[in-house]
Amino acid sequence: MSDRAHKIMLPKERAARPTSSRARAAEGIVIRDAEQVVTLSPDRGRPLRGAEMRELGIQTDASVLIAGGRIQRVGRYEDLMRGRSEREYEVIDAAGKIVMPGFVDPHTHLVFAGQRASELSWKVEGASYLEIAERGGGIQRTVRETRAASESELIHQAGGRLDQMLLNGTTTIEAKSGYGLTTVDEIKMLTAAKNLDKRHPVDIVRTFLGAHAFPEEYAEDRDGYISLLEEEMIPAAAKAGLAEFCDVFCEEGYFTPEESIRILEKGQTFGLKSKIHADEFTSSGGARVAAEVGAITADHLLRTSEEDMVRMAESGVVAVLLPAVPLLSMEERFANARRMIEMEIPVAIASDLNPNCWVTSMQTVISLACYKMRMTPEEAIAASTINAAYALGRGGKIGSLDVGKVADVLVLDIPDYLHIPYKFDGNCVETVIKNGEIIHKRES
Ligand SMILES: [Zn+2]
Repeated sequence: MSDRAHKIMLPKERAARPTSSRARAAEGIVIRDAEQVVTLSPDRGRPLRGAEMRELGIQTDASVLIAGGRIQRVGRYEDLMRGRSEREYEVIDAAGKIVMPGFVDPHTHLVFAGQRASELSWKVEGASYLEIAERGGGIQRTVRETRAASESELIHQAGGRLDQMLLNGTTTIEAKSGYGLTTVDEIKMLTAAKNLDKRHPVDIVRTFLGAHAFPEEYAEDRDGYISLLEEEMIPAAAKAGLAEFCDVFCEEGYFTPEESIRILEKGQTFGLKSKIHADEFTSSGGARVAAEVGAITADHLLRTSEEDMVRMAESGVVAVLLPAVPLLSMEERFANARRMIEMEIPVAIASDLNPNCWVTSMQTVISLACYKMRMTPEEAIAASTINAAYALGRGGKIGSLDVGKVADVLVLDIPDYLHIPYKFDGNCVETVIKNGEIIHKRES
């Protein structure tokens, strides 16, 4: 954390708070006497599946001891503090409140320029995705604006959104490129994400998504763009250490399953793990591709066939479901989370924050997972913490309050975790601890 300028992107009144220096002077932090500590323990070394997703490892009237940036102990306050002096710790009183791991948002398009608010009126009129594109909207508009923006403009705009995510309790996110679609602009997006990560408390895991769409200048030369991806863009992103994952938009009119396999396997030869946008508009075969190439996740999955779900279950692909997307796209259909959980596919949920789906709160995503996909509150919480961490290859490090894990911890001003989805529009997050430091505390 030493290279991070804490709170630089946060509102100034918070940056001025002295909590950070006090925490540094102390031995650590103790969060005491919470109504519930939702631990998500024990970490099984893999994401939760099936009925396991309802086991949140809750301890009541419990406390959490944090030191050295790590979770040291969870249990009764008296037990935790035996042989320790309270004066040496920063004590947070959590009576009547809940404590849980920070949310992990494993699918976002955080970095982009501009906004597309005007498209809402077109959506209300019934315009299709294609019609919106024909009116100069859609992804190509964002591509034009992102190409025109400098790296520092991208950092500034993305940083504001990242602040909102943090205030809503998200402590780690994934962020994709994919609005540049030239080597220079894709590298610019990934570099912006990397530099924002250095300056902001929230951790950003980077994904190369040059195969998000075919850029306008390659509309008639699909092979030419795929060659560019394979020969120039993937090597450039990987060699510069700018990405950890490679992702493809596998949909009709975008990248075919065959093209997706080529691109993802090329990424793998450069050490990039695979993710895929699958089965959003049609049953595109993307989930099948995920199983075939050994992808960590397949995302969206609104129209995945039973057969392809079986393949996902067999190969251990994590399903990343994005319930805000159909809602904000005025689509009736949602991913069949119930069937996936029944088949023991590990399920994670994410915001898919992008110009067409401006959602920064995982609390909202948890609500939507319950109300629109009939996930239980327990399943939705597991899907936004431990399973989301595994969706980013970080399950051993974050996503639960197991002893030794990074202390990314929230205090929520609610007496029961059920209130997270129940209170549909609120922000229950009172305190955010990242890497063992208090980085946000809401004044009551
Ligand atoms: Zn996406």
